[in-house]
Amino acid sequence: MITYLLKLGELTLKGGNRRAFERILRRNLEALIRGTGARVETANGRFYIHSPEGTEKQAEDALDHLMGITGWAKTGVCEKTVPAVIRSCINEGQKLRERGLQSFKIEARRTDKSFPLDSYGIACEGGKAVLEAVPGLRVDVHRPEGVIEVEIREKAYVYGFGRRGRRGLPVGSAGRGLLLLSGGIDSPVAGYLLASRGMLIEAVYFHAYPYTSEEARLKVIKLAEIVGRYSQGIRLHILPVTTVQMRIKEGAPSEWHTILLRMAMMDVAEKLAVKWRCQCLITGESLSQVASQTIENIACTENRVKLPILRPLIGMDKEGIIRLAGTIGTYETSILPYEDCCVLFSPPHPILRGDRNEALRLYEGLGLEEKLEEALREGITEKCSFPQERPKPLC
Ligand code: ATP
Ligand code: MG
Repeated sequence: MITYLLKLGELTLKGGNRRAFERILRRNLEALIRGTGARVETANGRFYIHSPEGTEKQAEDALDHLMGITGWAKTGVCEKTVPAVIRSCINEGQKLRERGLQSFKIEARRTDKSFPLDSYGIACEGGKAVLEAVPGLRVDVHRPEGVIEVEIREKAYVYGFGRRGRRGLPVGSAGRGLLLLSGGIDSPVAGYLLASRGMLIEAVYFHAYPYTSEEARLKVIKLAEIVGRYSQGIRLHILPVTTVQMRIKEGAPSEWHTILLRMAMMDVAEKLAVKWRCQCLITGESLSQVASQTIENIACTENRVKLPILRPLIGMDKEGIIRLAGTIGTYETSILPYEDCCVLFSPPHPILRGDRNEALRLYEGLGLEEKLEEALREGITEKCSFPQERPKPLC
């Protein structure tokens, strides 16, 4: 068996609620490793996975997608004696060297005070032994290339390749939100960020077939699959909006087309959100990124919606969003060249500072109610990256 050690993050600050958060984390982790034969163990506020040989890839993939942990490591487990701990340090030192690292330090923590060496003593003795046994490694306490960590708890854990977790809170601890997911760069990142705050994410995509291609639809499904891996699965509702777009095109001045389409999207998304018991809408809007996202136009598009609309990217610039899209793995898919319905529909001179009342007047004049209901009914739901068991949100 291989042991992984998990470091819990923000949820450790949750006082009386901590147990509830831990239960959700455990259930999420179990859902991610189901079928691999791995087992989750909790002891003294720590989580461990015991994973059969040969299933490292699945275990590590699960850990890389789990919200609510600050870090994790594949760890050696040894007897709680000084010689055994020293041997494990040497072992980890050899692994660092094999990977070409030249400097290291030892960081030790001791919660079991009966262990004969204190943290400083473990670092000194362990460091000395590694230096003697592994040629080519030197100690650098300020900027080491590698850190060997030693934790003396119920057992002794020694590991050299600690990894950063996704941080945040376990999915399911912060309600449920409906993400307006386009095929672009921004909205998948918005979904990811709220999943990292513990929100269970569902999604809706507005598809304008044949103006947007089948490839565009498949691309959004792929994006939903990627985001779904971080949010313990995602339900993606694909809604046809071609007739709605046509109605807007015929019935309103061209400079208003994008805003009116956005209003229609919000309208129908809110209906779906209520049906799916989502407590908010989520978009990938970022202030003034494009004409439809000036503050005046944002005010127009949210005019009729009663649910809160969360826009986690509102203060971010494109460079920061792209960097995040790269780390979560959506960027490569987002930049595939299949146009979104809004791009094809964009007027040459969109209104920049729409007036809310004018937006409302134009929108209500279109009489879209029935078309939207029809679109909602005709939509198809896909389940992406759906585990057998999803968390039930605490709400
Ligand atoms: P993205 O990269 O997410 O597509 P964007 O910069 O292209 O964002 P817009 O096209 O103005 O911005 O869209 C703003 C937001 O509206 C998107 O982030 C998304 O939440 C939502 N949205 C736009 N088009 C669609 C669509 N076809 N289906 C679902 N949501 C959409
Ligand atoms: Mg877009």
